[in-house]
Amino acid sequence: MIQQELHAIQKVHGYLPVDELKKLSTRLNVPLHRIHEVASCFPHYRLTPPPAVEFKVCRDMACHLKGAPEYVRSLKAMASELGGGQVEIGGVSCLGQCDGAVAVMVGHRFYRNKSIAECRSLLRDALANRTAATSPGDTHAQAPATHSPGRSTRPTSRATGWRIDPYEGREEYSAARRFVAGDNVAALLEALKIGELRGMGGAGVPAHQKWSDVRQARGERKFIVVNGDESEPGTFKDRELLLKTPHLVLEGVILAGLLTGAERGYVYIRHEYEPQIVAMKEAIDRAERMGVCGENALGTGRDFPIEVYVSPGGYICGEQSALIEAMEDRRAEPRNKPPLLETNGLYDKPTLVSNVETFAWAPAIYYKGGEWYRDLGVNGGKGARFLSISGDVAKPGVYEVPIGLPLGELIGKHAGGMLNGRRLKAVATSGPSAGFLPPMLPLEDLPRAARERLKDQPYLNLLDVPLDLQAFRDLGLMLGAGLVVYGEDTDMVDQAVNATEFFRNESCGKCVPCRVGCQKLVVIGQDLQNGRYDATGLAPVEDMVGDLRSAMEQASICGLGMVGANPLGTVVRHFRDDMTAYVRSTFRPATQAGIRTVEVPR
Ligand code: SF4
Repeated sequence: MIQQELHAIQKVHGYLPVDELKKLSTRLNVPLHRIHEVASCFPHYRLTPPPAVEFKVCRDMACHLKGAPEYVRSLKAMASELGGGQVEIGGVSCLGQCDGAVAVMVGHRFYRNKSIAECRSLLRDALANRTAATSPGDTHAQAPATHSPGRSTRPTSRATGWRIDPYEGREEYSAARRFVAGDNVAALLEALKIGELRGMGGAGVPAHQKWSDVRQARGERKFIVVNGDESEPGTFKDRELLLKTPHLVLEGVILAGLLTGAERGYVYIRHEYEPQIVAMKEAIDRAERMGVCGENALGTGRDFPIEVYVSPGGYICGEQSALIEAMEDRRAEPRNKPPLLETNGLYDKPTLVSNVETFAWAPAIYYKGGEWYRDLGVNGGKGARFLSISGDVAKPGVYEVPIGLPLGELIGKHAGGMLNGRRLKAVATSGPSAGFLPPMLPLEDLPRAARERLKDQPYLNLLDVPLDLQAFRDLGLMLGAGLVVYGEDTDMVDQAVNATEFFRNESCGKCVPCRVGCQKLVVIGQDLQNGRYDATGLAPVEDMVGDLRSAMEQASICGLGMVGANPLGTVVRHFRDDMTAYVRSTFRPATQAGIRTVEVPR
């Protein structure tokens, strides 16, 4: 309730005036500090009046790689030349437009693939029109995102050619109708089990297990929540699924609702994904008209309403328990576990929270069978999945690929190879979370079982590794849904400091190792760049990064803190040349000359 009221106040005033917050406190009979606690937590809310023009440049990974800091410097200089003061220019955390880097936001409108010159004319136009932009309602209008020319943002489901959609040319919601035609609980769970569908948000929990746990959890009231927060730099696959196949996400929620006996479903979507929010709301309206959700859903005699919950923002909302806290009108701080959400979730009731893509695969798996999905995999992988890829590749974007596809094929074939024929220097295989890996990994970095398996090879060629969660785990590596690729001329220290700044900015601050550790890492990285270790060499950097990494891994409450040191930790480990380039008195020679970059066959 607090969140919805804050959204409404901000929509009218463009920010949250103190008087309005006091009135809200009286109206809801909630202490003002509780309202301020929520309002001050989320990046969407403003506590001060907005400037006439807000110009934000995405500052993370792919956008940083393509020169975002230079954009900010240039635009700030231009604004002061033009007598700015009514314009606010700055960075913003990942906008989920990594395939359109550099992405910028003027007010609530996205622009992709913009050069600095184009941004300067956007700023000039925005300043010229600033009178119009200052009318309060405009600052939070539901303007559709503007993508690159020719890319439609019309919020409709459409033909995709993707295997995830079993309905192209056929009646939608057939899987849900089939479910209610018989007692199909066991059949659905069996299909998910045979297909080995895993959560697509990162943790990879087997879907059949999670769905079954919520079904078996005791409780009169249960909920289904789709995690569409998607704020990790480099990850934008759910953006496409929500826009192009909202009916599949909904049908996955309906199947989950039927199986678990849940009373309501929520689709939680980050507020910057406005076309996706519109697409999902339209899909819900249509599904209600078709009778598959809402009142007397599918003729079962039970109501099953589904609604969109617009996230007030923040990377940490992607952590499932933090997302639930946000929905319960609290700060988005992850919960200590146990208990798990499957038994004590939304309003302390059993709740199934899963990623957008996990729900979207369920209809096809139930409709076509677990074997069908399982057999989509290659090289020992099971099934298929969506991956987003960006950075120094010719065709950044979202690709539906068989699980087990070698990394080299994703880069070389699907993504069109390296941009401008560059050699490959590094891959971030899970946004910033896994850090940066060189194409040739020293065997001593791998777990013992993997070393023994590969003992005839001098290195592990990363391009040969199958894009399969389990294969990565067996090698002691992490695979996420977003990969960022770096060419030979990349300064990896600069990238690591940028990725660490992201974690520092997005840490919720609940626990000390993460809150303090991320900031210390940023300072260490910046000090290295600024020459502080010229006299000592890299040893103190290695020691401090190692100690912090170990403390954060062991003592943080959630995944953010556990991986927060990986960007600098992996650069310390694998990109010594880049580190020593910042230190004039180099104590140790570069050890990796000759293996630091590779060609990627197309
Ligand atoms: Fe918050 Fe970081 Fe602790 Fe996670 S690890 S709960 S983000 S402070």
